[in-house]
Parts: sequence; C-alpha cells; structure tokens
Amino acid sequence: MSSIPSTPVLDPQEIVRRIRAALPAEVTRAALHEPRFLGNEKRYLADCIDTGWVSYAGSYVDRFEQDLAAVCGVEHAVAVTSGTVALQVALHAAGVGSGDEVLVPALTFVATANAIVHAGGIPHFVDADEATLGIDPTALKTHLAEMAIRRDGKLYNRITGNRIAALLPVHVFGHPADMDTIKSLAADHGLTVIEDATEALGSFYKDRPCGSLSPIATLSFNGNKLVTTGGGGAILTDDAAMAKRLRHLTTTAKQPHRWAFVHDEVAWNFRLPNINAAVGVAQLERLSPMLEAKRILWQRYADAFADLRGLHVFKDAPFARSNHWLVSLILDQDHAHLLEPILTATNDAGLSTRPTWTPMHQLAMYRDHPRASLPVTESLAQRIVSLPSSPFLAAP
Ligand SMILES: *Cc1c(COP(=O)(O)O)cnc(C)c1O
Repeated sequence: MSSIPSTPVLDPQEIVRRIRAALPAEVTRAALHEPRFLGNEKRYLADCIDTGWVSYAGSYVDRFEQDLAAVCGVEHAVAVTSGTVALQVALHAAGVGSGDEVLVPALTFVATANAIVHAGGIPHFVDADEATLGIDPTALKTHLAEMAIRRDGKLYNRITGNRIAALLPVHVFGHPADMDTIKSLAADHGLTVIEDATEALGSFYKDRPCGSLSPIATLSFNGNKLVTTGGGGAILTDDAAMAKRLRHLTTTAKQPHRWAFVHDEVAWNFRLPNINAAVGVAQLERLSPMLEAKRILWQRYADAFADLRGLHVFKDAPFARSNHWLVSLILDQDHAHLLEPILTATNDAGLSTRPTWTPMHQLAMYRDHPRASLPVTESLAQRIVSLPSSPFLAAP
C-alpha cells in the first residue's frame, strides 16, 4: 500500500504534542510565565538589608529609574508599587478627572479599566484589530464619527454627554498597537494618549521602544511580567515638569524640607521600595538575553505549529518587534469550538495555557459602560490560547 502523507488533524492531543515538541525534552510541566533570578538579585537584596536601605529611599530606586529610562528611550521614569497605580497616577496627571470618559480596548487585563475608574473616569470600550490585538484605529475612527462631537476644543460623547478626555492603547501580550495611526487619530480629536506598555518592556514599534510612543506611558513588574520586582510599576515621560509632578504625587506631595512635614495636595504613597528596585536592577541587567530567549521560543512554537491548519501562532505586524511576552495561538473562526478542549487537554498535561481575558464589557461592573460595537474583540476572546512563555524555556 502506498503511504499517502496525511494532513495532521487539529485535535487537543495534537496541540499537547506540538507544545512539547517546541520545549526542551526535560520540561514536563510548564507554567504560563515564571520568573527566574539568574543574575545579581540576591547580591543586591543582601546589600539593601546589610545597609538598612530597604524602603522608599535608596540608590537602587534611582538606578532602576535611570536604567528603565535608558531601556525605554525616555528622559524620565518614576518607579511605583504596581502597574495599576502607575496607570491611575498617569491618568490623573494627564488631567482625567471625575466623569471623564477614556477610550480603552475591551480586550485588555482588567487593571487597565480599573485604573480609569480609580482616577475618577469612565472606561469607554473600543474594538481590537486582529493584526495587532491592540486598538483598531479604523474602527475607532468610525466610532468617533458616529458618537463624538467637538465643542469649544473639547470632545464629548453625544449620547452620555460626558467629556472624552483620553485614549489609552494597550500593547496586548507585548505586541505593539499601531501607534502612529492611533496617535494621529487622537491628535485630530484633541485626545491625550497614555500608553499602557505594561506588557511590552523591550518591544519596538518601528524603531522606537514601546513606552516612548506617547507623552506618558506605564510599565508593570508584577510576578508574571517579563521583568519582575516582585510587584511594581513605572511611569515614563520625556517631560521634566511632568516627571517632577508624578514623583511628587506618588510620595505624598511632601514639600522638600530637612524636617517639616508640609504636604501641598492630596496625594499617594506609591513609591517603589528600594528592595523591590534592587531586584529590578538585577533583572534589567539580563533583559537582552531574556528578549533573545523569547524570540527563540516564539520561533520554536511557530515552527512546531507551522503545518497545522485551523490555527496559527500570532505573528507581529510588519512594523512591530514584540518582546513576545505571551506567545499565543489564534484559532480560526471555524475551530473556535476547540478552545475549551485545548485548554483542558494542555492544562491536564501540566502545560499551563490560558484563554485571553474576558472582554471588559462582559464583566459585571463594566456591562453598562459606553462602548463601540466589539465584533473582533468578541471573536478573538473565543480563539486565543496563550502558551507557556517563560524565557528560560528557550535559554540561548
Ligand atoms: C499587568 C498589567 C497591568 C497592571 O499591572 P500590575 O502591576 O499587575 O498592577 C495593567 N495593564 C495590563 C495590560 C497588564 O497586563
């Protein structure tokens, strides 16, 4: 009998086999994204404890801020205790206040929307682009034409009557959104842009680092991000006056004085402690090899799944160089029914995979919020499987 090469069938066990084929043979179980501390973390932590500099002042916080600014191609970085508060303070400092709407993708982690609420604003959800997973500028333009109205130099939502104050693009899974198009749309409508680059440290849009693409941007260093400080975040800006204000707002708005406690506005205690920053400095020293490992891991997955029809490994848009924070499978529409079986089979096999987030407008607290029609978001939410993506799974 002649052997006819059979087309591999896309079934959940085949996905398990392909994931295993992309990973080193000795890996039996794999988390979605795990930190490893392979550099100077212990040494810098011991230094903090030995010297007593464990809290809100100390040389590692300053060094971490300088290193971050250099990596992201900006003048200033302000280190804070989480990505969520970084977003909250950035929105506040950008002038978002009570009752202001902020345009934000429905396909994001809940912290993005929550931060808008914490700043007094109202998240207004917009649709995603299948090519970037970020905001679709074409759909947004249409939505603005239908819904928004310009009055006295400000933009308003015709239906709710609220001011629309800002646009908050997210680089989903580290993949840059189409920022030039998004920014020119924002400029046409007088909207401030604040970049949620929390997942995109080390990613590039064209030749510019994510985090340097808008007047204010934010990063996160929680435990499953590419670089971790245990927990932490940062706000990035080129504007010296803004950086000064951000630092003031995140350190209780205390006026500098040798001993007097004088505070000049209601502010926060959000500064990143020195011990967290010490871990961050050591992690950043290894950013290049981590990015290299992520690129290799992405390539291994892309090769392992190349000949399987019905899905593909998400690939960057031509203008993007992603950090590949989470490598993801995108199922074709006619294979969306396999999402749950694939998640079950892979997790049963000890390979942590995850669907993307429940879209924001489907969460109880955001169900009645203003939004565009969200067909791509709703479709993608049923078709994304993020794969084990820790950089050490492909150490170069
Ligand atoms: C991680 C993350 C945040 C929040 O960061 P935390 O440090 O966990 O508060 C915000 N937005 C997105 C898109 C994220 O992935």
